[in-house]
Amino acid sequence: MSCQPRLLIADEPTTALDATIQAQYLALFKDIQKKTNVAIIFITHDFGVVANMCHRVGVMYAGKIVESASTREIFKAPRHPYTSALINSVPRLDRKDERLYSIEGQPPSLLNLPPGCRFAPRCPQAMDICRREEPPEVNIGNDHTVSCWKVR
Ligand code: SF4
Repeated sequence: MSCQPRLLIADEPTTALDATIQAQYLALFKDIQKKTNVAIIFITHDFGVVANMCHRVGVMYAGKIVESASTREIFKAPRHPYTSALINSVPRLDRKDERLYSIEGQPPSLLNLPPGCRFAPRCPQAMDICRREEPPEVNIGNDHTVSCWKVR
């Protein structure tokens, strides 16, 4: 921060921290942001951090942003099957599921991406076109963009 940057990239800043230190760390980020007005990009797998810290979310799969919207909209109305699957896989105290939801299969190698949609081999909604052509990014309004053939 000594060079007064306009952008700070925080890559997995809370990984491996215990809950108390994590809370202190996030409070420090908020304080820095408020005092300096720096923009912060959080790279994280933690939906709690996203909900607590971010105004806007870009959901990335296999190196590509597949959905982008305000944090509120992503949690309230996710449109890409990968985003929905991620949100469904978060444990919730108000649900008594016996097993946690998980996404079948493994992410592809970035050196050997499948043709068409990168998520197609794992997507329960995949159609023929998904395995042939990469879906274009579509703005569905409210600055919410999705790359999925199901969302037109
Ligand atoms: S484009 Fe097809 S495979 Fe890809 S996320 Fe959408 S429905 Fe699934």
